[in-house]
Amino acid sequence: MKILIISDIHANQVALEAVLKACPDFEALWNIGDTVGYGPRPRECVDLMVDYGAKPILVGNHDLACLGEIDLREFNTVAQIASRWTALQLGMEHRAYLMGLYSDTVQDGYSLAHGSPRAPVWEYVTTAVIATENFAHFETETCFIGHTHIGMYALVRPDEEMASLHPLRDGDTLDLLVGRYIVNPGSVGQPRDRDPRAAYAVLDSSRGTLSAHRVAYDIATTQRQMALANLPDILASRLAHGM
Ligand code: ZN
Repeated sequence: MKILIISDIHANQVALEAVLKACPDFEALWNIGDTVGYGPRPRECVDLMVDYGAKPILVGNHDLACLGEIDLREFNTVAQIASRWTALQLGMEHRAYLMGLYSDTVQDGYSLAHGSPRAPVWEYVTTAVIATENFAHFETETCFIGHTHIGMYALVRPDEEMASLHPLRDGDTLDLLVGRYIVNPGSVGQPRDRDPRAAYAVLDSSRGTLSAHRVAYDIATTQRQMALANLPDILASRLAHGM
């Protein structure tokens, strides 16, 4: 089965549509969370997830903030502004939908967690030590995460105790059968690895392989939408730099 895995859309509809167009023949769609927050089209992005039958969808820290489930003081000023704006945009149906979701789950023998298996809402898996500790917190062979907006994979082979951490780049293919993995596909709507293109991954669950991909999208259109919504300039300008 061909499964499209995405994370951190952050209400960037143009980027999301570019990914859906670049990978049109998926049989399942898994979304690791932060569908909204930061970007200008929260309703449309939630609607697209429903229309495309994405399941599971996780809730990330930004989704929860927009729902009023997280104290906004946890966020920096621009994220607070964007969260308040997003909360006003979401309709009852969008709120009810997001409210029903979890921050981690298991699907078809794979674990998924927004931040990390140990702390699904908040923890950032950014080092080999953090990754190594997290392997004790899920039972499947592979766990998919998001949250950092940086594509990467951590691998522990059967004879190893310490995980090795690697960037996940456009065109990379992983053989998931050689060990246990934590994999972050990167962010659709706000990449932070200095590559501004939208990131996604494709899991071939029958072969046990995962491929990483990037697709360019019309960043200027998203930036215009953000300006019209009076979202902070810094959130729009960073999209062009992939930071
Ligand atoms: Zn995020």
